[in-house]
Amino acid sequence: MAVPQERRPLVAGNWKMNTTVAEASGLARETVRALGDVAGTDVDVVLCPPFVSLTTVYKTIAGSPLLLGAQTLNAAPKGAYTGEVSWTMLRGLCTHVIVGHSERRTYYHETDEDVNKKTLAALDAGLTPIACVGERLEQREAGQAHAYVAGQVRALLDGVAPGAIPGVCIAYEPLWAIGTGRSAGGPVAREVAALIREVARELCGEGAEGVRVLYGGSVTAANAAEFAAQPDIDGALVGGASLDAAAFAAIIRAFA
Ligand code: PEP
Repeated sequence: MAVPQERRPLVAGNWKMNTTVAEASGLARETVRALGDVAGTDVDVVLCPPFVSLTTVYKTIAGSPLLLGAQTLNAAPKGAYTGEVSWTMLRGLCTHVIVGHSERRTYYHETDEDVNKKTLAALDAGLTPIACVGERLEQREAGQAHAYVAGQVRALLDGVAPGAIPGVCIAYEPLWAIGTGRSAGGPVAREVAALIREVARELCGEGAEGVRVLYGGSVTAANAAEFAAQPDIDGALVGGASLDAAAFAAIIRAFA
């Protein structure tokens, strides 16, 4: 692994809207078992189950090195926001939270400004944001991918104190690679990961060396090593393959 000492790899499993509470508990138990002693020693492993299963999974993984994350949060502390879950509710239960996932941007119209508010709220709450960025296929084909992703990174980090920027994980997830079986491949992912670090460097100087940049989009047990070998990629955000404990464990081993 070519990552500097201070950047510990992180692999997060985004279970999305899958698993009942009982299934989530079972999958968490199987994941703990499949990982043996890899998690927590060489790599941070974060499970992100649906909100309703957070408490159950919290109890299931207690005593293991696995960490717990939410799939989104509301930036307000509390109030009349039916159906929403605030950072005050997540704090104490989770250590991480995904913000700005493309499915939330697309289906729930979350804007760069919303993602920025969520990033700031997560940091204020002591949660590590896993902030997602990534271009659509048309943007890549039009040669706009780099400018678009750089803009998303600047927007999500707007107002974040330079000293806090290394505490943000940034996941490069090109939309055309999510759930499609068509991953970006090592060279493309590496190029964009380097760009993300360059933007972070503009904002926080040397602190950018501490920012963990993840790749996400059709990561599997078969292709994880290709991403793990890239110098600016410090882990993965995994969707489909995280629902299979053995496949997820193999991905984690590639980054360990
Ligand atoms: C994701 O949704 O964050 C993701 C990367 O999904 P998948 O691994 O299934 O492409």
